[in-house]
Amino acid sequence: MSDNDFDVVIVGGGAVGAVLAVALEQAGFSSALIEAKRPKSFDKTADFDLRQSAVAPGPRYLLDRLGIWPRLDKSRICGFGGMKVWDAAGGDTLYLEHTAVGLPELGHIVENSLLVDCAWQKLVSTRIVSPASLADLRTDAFRAHLALDNGERLSASLVVGAEGANSPVRHAAGINTTGWHYGQRCTVGAIKPQKHHRHIAWQRFTETGPVAFLPLSDGRCSMAWHADDTLAAELNELDDLAFAERLTEASDGVLGRIERIDSRAAFDLKLLHAHRYVASRVALVGDAAHVVHPMAGQGVNLGLLDVAELVSALERGRAAGHEPGNQRYLMRYQRARMADNLAMLAATDGLKRLFGSHSALPRRARKLGTTVVARFPPLRQLMIHQATGATATDAPLTRPTR
Ligand SMILES: Cc1cc2nc3c(=O)[nH]c(=O)nc-3n(C[C@H](O)[C@H](O)[C@H](O)COP(=O)(O)OP(=O)(O)OC[C@H]3O[C@@H](n4cnc5c(N)ncnc54)[C@H](O)[C@@H]3O)c2cc1C
Repeated sequence: MSDNDFDVVIVGGGAVGAVLAVALEQAGFSSALIEAKRPKSFDKTADFDLRQSAVAPGPRYLLDRLGIWPRLDKSRICGFGGMKVWDAAGGDTLYLEHTAVGLPELGHIVENSLLVDCAWQKLVSTRIVSPASLADLRTDAFRAHLALDNGERLSASLVVGAEGANSPVRHAAGINTTGWHYGQRCTVGAIKPQKHHRHIAWQRFTETGPVAFLPLSDGRCSMAWHADDTLAAELNELDDLAFAERLTEASDGVLGRIERIDSRAAFDLKLLHAHRYVASRVALVGDAAHVVHPMAGQGVNLGLLDVAELVSALERGRAAGHEPGNQRYLMRYQRARMADNLAMLAATDGLKRLFGSHSALPRRARKLGTTVVARFPPLRQLMIHQATGATATDAPLTRPTR
């Protein structure tokens, strides 16, 4: 092999692509990581990143096994032991707690930039090509050939698209997608409520979308306010003081008055699902394969579980004497992940439709929904299992280390 030939080339070094690079390196595959924007080193003196993820236990075990979790600055991450979900339309409050599934916590709130930085810091032998983007991808029976916009040419047994929702690898491989925009935006940012969050993730469903408060390690919260486009545009026009008042109202004052808005930005919400996760010498992971509504906070989790299953399939293929681009083992990866990802997509899409509706029937149904789940422990336990990723994959990398 020449210096430009690899077992695997990953395009996209966000949270999912970077963690995949670490996992492949540790599994003994030679790989290159192509990233358009090299991430800045994490600055712990800066305020919290706008993009926070609730990392569930299954993906957390993966990060632990790869040695990424121990590197995360613990003063910047916040464990949460409970989730309170209630509906503006009425019904019971749903309280999901870690003790119900025998876990020390339901998850941790982690900044995207911290996770990305710690994964990049773990890379030793991976060839990093950044800044660079994919200009052309061709595959034949033996290799995948990549041309980059910096003039470099690379070849690999397998190319992985991890470059997010607009994946050029997915386009080049001719993989179609199904998806739609929700006509909603999500405003995220750090806020200071009057009361401490008590290490609970709070979510109130309103007719225009859910308002969520995720706990931050300094006692503040990360908000995620999902709103129809019209309301989102109106909120965007407000100054911080007026926005804080509206947020206090929308959250029903559950954590008292919102005293300060420290940052905010809004994102469009959409659903996207690739019809296939694999093609000849190509695999997709993370948002390149699936974009879920963020209300259940599962985007990064699903991507990390993709990583665990893909690496597991490649290792099995290698043990049977096959190279990483072997279609049979790539299909195993697709089979292992597609059903779970589709189930999560359907669940979040269904929740969005149920809880985002103005019509009378879904209003009654959703009121009943939280009440039934709140009063029926086995159903509650099942919801926690799904939310924590505890049942999501059998890949060895997502098993607890102790
Ligand atoms: C408002 C909001 C809130 C969210 N909250 C949560 C949450 O609570 N929990 C959760 O789990 N998820 C959450 N998500 C989703 C989560 O952020 C994404 O699912 C996750 O970041 C996807 O990671 P990724 O690595 O697949 O893609 P990305 O993070 O999009 O990374 C893609 C990388 O590829 C690079 N790239 C792009 N194009 C190219 C190219 N042509 N060549 C080379 N490199 C390229 C980009 O620079 C980037 O670094 C949220 C998303 C939004 C919008």
